[in-house]
Amino acid sequence: MEPLDRDTAKKLFDRYRKQRDGIRNSPEMASVCLICGSVHIIPDAGNAHKLVCRDCRFAFFRYACPACGKTVDGRDPQNPGCPECGLRICTCGACGCTATNHRQD
Ligand SMILES: [Zn+2]
Ligand SMILES: [Zn+2]
Ligand SMILES: [Zn+2]
Repeated sequence: MEPLDRDTAKKLFDRYRKQRDGIRNSPEMASVCLICGSVHIIPDAGNAHKLVCRDCRFAFFRYACPACGKTVDGRDPQNPGCPECGLRICTCGACGCTATNHRQD
């Protein structure tokens, strides 16, 4: 993905720092760090559901919901954490608990 230009990144950063609702619906927010404003966001090597900021190392959940395909973003208040599976709860109500059908036993 092409890095965002600085102006666009700054506008998005300012907007979503104040109002975090809607981050999940903004495709550009996959490449803006909400902590330091960096656009150097890379996949987290240790967690397929996370992205990490290359500059400040802040990691956040961002992935497609396995149930409905919508984007889930851990920085969005509409995607709260699930205490059971540790993933985020999609606006459709699905999280890691509902998505895993494969059992170990
Ligand atoms: Zn950062
Ligand atoms: Zn969903
Ligand atoms: Zn869960």
